[in-house]
Amino acid sequence: MDHFLYRDGMLHAEDVPVADIAAAVGTPFYVYSTATLLRHFQLFDDALSWTDHLVCFAMKSLSNQAVLRVLAQAGAGMDVVSQGEYLRAKAAGVPGDRIVFSGVGKTAEEMRTALEGGIRQFNVESEPEMERLDQVARSLGCVAPITIRVNPDVDAKTHAKIATGKSENKFGIPISRAREVYAMAARLPGLRVIGIDVHIGSQLTELAPFEAAYKKVAELTEQLRADGHEISRLDLGGGLGIPYTRSNEAPPVPTDYGALIQRTVGHLGCEIEIEPGRLISGNAGLMVAKVIYVKSGEDRDFLILDGAMNDLIRPAMYEAWHDIVPVIEPQPGVEPTKYDIVGPVCESGDTFAKGREMPRLKPDDLVAFRSAGAYGAVMSSEYNSRLMIPEVLVHGDHLAVIRRRPTYEDMIARDTVPEWLA
Ligand SMILES: *Cc1c(COP(=O)(O)O)cnc(C)c1O
Repeated sequence: MDHFLYRDGMLHAEDVPVADIAAAVGTPFYVYSTATLLRHFQLFDDALSWTDHLVCFAMKSLSNQAVLRVLAQAGAGMDVVSQGEYLRAKAAGVPGDRIVFSGVGKTAEEMRTALEGGIRQFNVESEPEMERLDQVARSLGCVAPITIRVNPDVDAKTHAKIATGKSENKFGIPISRAREVYAMAARLPGLRVIGIDVHIGSQLTELAPFEAAYKKVAELTEQLRADGHEISRLDLGGGLGIPYTRSNEAPPVPTDYGALIQRTVGHLGCEIEIEPGRLISGNAGLMVAKVIYVKSGEDRDFLILDGAMNDLIRPAMYEAWHDIVPVIEPQPGVEPTKYDIVGPVCESGDTFAKGREMPRLKPDDLVAFRSAGAYGAVMSSEYNSRLMIPEVLVHGDHLAVIRRRPTYEDMIARDTVPEWLA
């Protein structure tokens, strides 16, 4: 459920007509709904209310400061994967003891920044990383709290680019070697082992892979405890999928996911962390674009938009489907037509949808890409020297630009020309 609905024939973001936002900031743009962000966070928080827990928002899915503040003020922690994300989370007012640091390639500088600024835990992904972190922590005279990310070798049954829990993926240490690696961690004085971490992939639309992974984590917890390790916290990752279209079956909901967690690891008495990204931010955002031209091809019509793959790369990168809806509600009974919906970027990959059924549109009409909050703005670029598009947050009938559109001068001024070319 989200808060982007037609009212009086006009698509609204909460109580704000989307067309009014377009008039205020121009197109294309992203708009996020505060109520939807909070609702989704709350679903996870409630689903774990049976135990000590922290829901850490995977901020790589949507990292605008304003969004982080909405979630942090509701009690969310943050899952960060870089120094930039760590510093953004801190700038948004998230205390260090609610930030977990994930990622396979943390540098010594990133470790130092997090240890000095405060960190809940590092999710360590390899032995060399463990040694590096031990050195950095000792050089600062502190001890780094860690979990070790295990790779449970389960098939997440998702797109290959976002599956992370098979043995061929670069993530975590093989669960078969976990006891050996935990023993090594226990010998390093700069580290304090507190738990286990697992994250098997993104956009999972079934619970079975989570169940398989969490059962392996439960077994490992008991083995590691028997080996004498303190395992008091389980970080179970993110990855719960969202419906990208209203017509297909609904993926599992946080309530069922929470129940699954209770069933598989609840008996261990561990504090539970989860790291959902997409399910919190995905359906909380739209990307809105304007029709520039309707072009008739030989066997199809093209809807050419002012938004492009540089603004929303998911269709080009993951063959992702986004529902694309007109901002003015289609009249019932009007015969739809089919379009290839494309952007202006100079490659054929800049195609959002092929043969998509839509009401007949004309230049200047607005369309909204649904479910664009996650992995949308954060993956955008200036490819083709197109300006990064603005982000807007709505809250009831309030609207705020939370990232302005830069100017062409801003863009050009970022390059520097060596003096011999001046
Ligand atoms: C990407 C990622 C997440 C979030 O995944 P979603 O599918 O957005 O929920 C959580 N944890 C880690 C370690 C990740 O890399």
